[in-house]
Amino acid sequence: MMADHPTCIGCGVTAPDANSTYTLISATHGWRLTRRILADGTRGVEWRCPTCWTAHKNGQATAKGAPAPGPAATAAATRRRA
Ligand SMILES: [Zn+2]
Repeated sequence: MMADHPTCIGCGVTAPDANSTYTLISATHGWRLTRRILADGTRGVEWRCPTCWTAHKNGQATAKGAPAPGPAATAAATRRRA
């Protein structure tokens, strides 16, 4: 079910070679896959590289009105995930 080389929707970078989706989303590569239903009802997936995923998370938190995490908190969260 995996495209050969997914691209990040944030910056357009091509995902590194990986044996499977699970390898890409593992700590080794740190990519994230988001499933979403598009406006026309079709299913789509969004790939994000580690950098864009972090920015995406921070952007969501800010949009919801929650205080944006400081650099230290963000780094700690990233370290826990990795
Ligand atoms: Zn990216």
